[in-house]
Amino acid sequence: MEKIAAYLENVKKIAIAGHVHPDGDCVGSCMGLYLYLTENFPGLDVEVYLEEPREVFSFLKDFDQIRSSHDADASFDLLILLDISSRDRVGVVQDLIDSTGKVLCLDHHRTNEGAYTWFYNDPEASSTAEVVYRFLDPEKISEKCAEALYMGIAHDTGIFQYQSCSPETMCVAASLMKKGIPYTWIIDRTYYQKSYAENQILGRALMESFLFFDGKVIVSVIRERTMKFFGVTPKDMDGIVSQLRNTIGVEVAVFLYETEWLEYKVSMRSKDYIDVSRIAAVFGGGGHVRAAGCTVQGMHRDVINAIARELDIQFREHDAQMREENDEKDDERNSECL
Ligand code: AMP
Ligand code: MN
Ligand code: MN
Repeated sequence: MEKIAAYLENVKKIAIAGHVHPDGDCVGSCMGLYLYLTENFPGLDVEVYLEEPREVFSFLKDFDQIRSSHDADASFDLLILLDISSRDRVGVVQDLIDSTGKVLCLDHHRTNEGAYTWFYNDPEASSTAEVVYRFLDPEKISEKCAEALYMGIAHDTGIFQYQSCSPETMCVAASLMKKGIPYTWIIDRTYYQKSYAENQILGRALMESFLFFDGKVIVSVIRERTMKFFGVTPKDMDGIVSQLRNTIGVEVAVFLYETEWLEYKVSMRSKDYIDVSRIAAVFGGGGHVRAAGCTVQGMHRDVINAIARELDIQFREHDAQMREENDEKDDERNSECL
């Protein structure tokens, strides 16, 4: 793998972009790379495009440089896509994918099918921020750049909790910490702190949640009228599905919110064995094995039933696998006794 400088030959104008409804990893990796390029390659003209990132990310250096749309005549030598998961989720610069000569895509979603000039996708990586780090010269990473990348890694690992957080991830995080960043403050301010309205809608989602599949699945739905009542937007509901997943005995958490009449955004998280990216893919979405999403049309009961059918398939597969493993163990024990 080449460092980022290898992709900059004959390049003057660069656009960096992430996915729609950008999360901490998306904002962190885009801003981390933006700061690295502007600080180390002063001759380059770099722009960063993100769909209205949340206010909590505004502490990042040059946050005010983020654009949410491009000029009609904008053209670039290189488009860098980060954390997008699939081509149709680029959002604000979707049209630039076809009109830009060279496209470099760095990602960690196994559902990303590629077809870019250069594609580096590591589904085992904790975050796109960790993937971006591999393309940078550690010596040239400033404190401000480190803040953004550290935030990306921290968010996508659920604060260094998920299985995707490897020893390598911790080494990268450590090297970013050594740049002198306020790591405790970043985690508290951007991940744990919630506004009053965010806490209210979280409380409502928990109150209205219900268990099925013998307590292995938890589901909660927020209707548009409830969002209006609490004065919240989709950005205010980011942590809800993770909180649902923390319920003891639950393998899968499913959170739905209404985006428009008969349309729901679905977020899914699993703990140990259900592959939620497989379920999201059935509905045209994608993501990771333990965290995935999709948008589904229909009444919410029908949406839940359709997801339940997919869950049922996987629970049955898992049960069959467990039975097989137990049978094998029994056979082994029996042969030892003979
Ligand atoms: P979310 O539940 O929206 O937070 O998404 C969980 C993970 O799935 C993230 O890594 C997203 O990038 C990915 N994801 C969510 N929705 C989609 C979609 N419609 N298509 C592809 N990937 C998605
Ligand atoms: Mn993301
Ligand atoms: Mn990510």
